[in-house]
This record gives sequence, structure tokens and C-alpha cells, in this order.
Amino acid sequence: MSATIIDGKAFAETVRAQVADHVARLKAGHGVTPGLAVVLVGEDPASQVYVRSKGKQTLEAGMASFEHKLPAETSEADLVALVKQLNADPKVHGILVQLPLPPHLDSDLVINTIDPAKDVDGFHISNVGLLGTGQKAMVPCTPLGCLMLLRDHLGSLSGKTAVVVGRSNIVGKPMAQLLLGDSCTVTIAHSRTQDLPAVCRTADILVAAVGRPEMVKGDWVKPGATVIDVGINRIERDGKTKLVGDVDFVSAAAVAGAITPVPGGVGPMTIACLLANTLTACCRANGLPEPEGLTA
Ligand code: NDP
Repeated sequence: MSATIIDGKAFAETVRAQVADHVARLKAGHGVTPGLAVVLVGEDPASQVYVRSKGKQTLEAGMASFEHKLPAETSEADLVALVKQLNADPKVHGILVQLPLPPHLDSDLVINTIDPAKDVDGFHISNVGLLGTGQKAMVPCTPLGCLMLLRDHLGSLSGKTAVVVGRSNIVGKPMAQLLLGDSCTVTIAHSRTQDLPAVCRTADILVAAVGRPEMVKGDWVKPGATVIDVGINRIERDGKTKLVGDVDFVSAAAVAGAITPVPGGVGPMTIACLLANTLTACCRANGLPEPEGLTA
């Protein structure tokens, strides 16, 4: 193995410490405490784990955490009413509605009810448009985390060739917009892309956000490239459940210049960026300077 391992766990700790430091200064200097409201509908076990973890890390950063757990059969009208109540609450600077919602609820309608200034997931159509037009937006947490890791590792991304595999609204598309914003030459690949290995081999920066275990092989990677593996896949191997990414780590690490592991790469950055976005939203709401290095 020759690649540098990009330690997302350690970097996320640094980001969280920066956020906590800024929060302490906001409290002391301005009497303002950033607050994050998380809304969970139903009993999905993975969502429950995420929400617990978000609440814990929010409090550890010195912020206020407001958790709203609603039964699976909650009506759309009741959920929308709660979101509107949170929109109007000055103690709440960030609102996150945990996805997926139960099937009887219209996720787009609910997300687009969130005040865009409090939309710390960056999924509101206004934030999507602002990001797409290069304006100040709330940026989705996972791609923001990838961008921070890339900037930290590579410095300027300007002029680099980037390939993003995956075109979802929550990862692939915003990731491509962010890389474009940093002046990369960007290709978005997906399930219909012809000769995907050859497309990937053009990349100085290769981001895999596919949801297919270990799909990207070492011979898809340009020697020296930086590989960001967003995938989180549970597989059974040797009788054990294992977490793997969308990249075949061993073969890719033999060729890449740097690579994120799974776990311990992009994953920890997502919640760190959620905290960073909540802090940014709080600063914007109060007309205060935004934290440096924690936004796109
Ligand atoms: P989606 O299922 O929404 O999107 C997957 C994308 O991959 C689609 O655009 C699809 O193409 C493309 N794709 C699927 N199969 C292939 C293939 N064989 N070749 C090329 N492209 C393919 O997934 P998400 O974007 O939500 O998530 C992607 C991965 O990232 C998942 O493993 C998920 O668990 C993980 N994830 C991790 C997060 C973190 O915090 N680290 C946060 C969010 C997601 P098409 O559009 O043509 O169907």
C-alpha cells in the first residue's frame, strides 16, 4: 500500500473542536447559543442511532439540542406544523428532519417547509439553487465534509480533474457543484456511464458515492489520485458483518496518492459539518461573522 490514509475521524475531531471554540466565544461575547432541532418520525433503528449521535455531539459542542420524536403515523399536517413552529423559534438556528420519512409523508414538501436559513442539511430547493448558482447557501453536510478533507489534503483544487460517481441529490450532485465552485473540471458518472473505469482513470480527484460495496477497483484509479469514498455498505465476510465503502480499499490504496478509509473517512465528517452548518446559520441569523474554514 502506498497511499496516504486521510484520517476523517481525526479531522472531524478538529472541526468539532473549532466549532466548540467558536460556540464558546459566541456565548461569552454575544450571549447567543446556537441551537439544533432534530425531528425524527417513526422507529427506524438506523435513524434512531444517527439522531442520538447528533444530539450527543451537539451538546458536546456547547450548543442547544432540541429533539422531537414523533410516532410513525404522524400526519403530514402535524409534521408541517412542527417545522413551522421551529422556523419561528429564535432559539432554533438549525432544523434537520431525519430522512427517510415514512412513505405516507411527502419528504420534498416537508423539507421545503423548513426556513432555508435554518436548513442545515442543505436540501431545501432554495439552497440547492443557491449552491448551483455559486451563491451563499447552506451546503449538504456529507459533500461539505468531502470538500473540507480535499482542501485540507490538497490545498487548492483549482484546475484538477474530478470525477464524481453517483448523481444523488444529497451527495453526488452537490459534491460536483462544490468541486466546480473550487474550479475543478468535473465529470458526474452514474449507472448509465459508458466505460466507467476509463472515466474514473481520468480523475485527479475521484469521489465514489454509489452504494455498491467495493465497486471501484484499483485499476480504475489514476496513479497518485486522491480517492474519497463516501459509500457505507454492510457486508457479510468471514462470518462477520463488516462496513465497507464503494471503493475496493486494498487495490485502490496501492495506486492512489491518498484515500479515505471506511469506516473513519467521510462518515465522521458528516455530523461535524452538521454542527458547522448550525454554527454558520446562527452567525448569519445574528449578523455575526461566519466561522472561517467551516463553510464552502
Ligand atoms: P443513491 O442510491 O441515492 O445514489 C447512488 C448513485 O450511484 C446513483 O446516481 C446511481 O446512478 C449511481 N450508481 C448506482 N450503481 C452504479 C453503477 N453500477 N455504476 C455507476 N453508478 C452507479 O445513493 P446516495 O448518494 O444517497 O449514497 C451513496 C453512498 O453513500 C451509499 O453507500 C450511502 O450509504 C453513502 N452515504 C454516506 C454518507 C456518509 O455520511 N458518509 C451520507 C450519505 C450517503 P443512477 O442515478 O443512474 O441510478
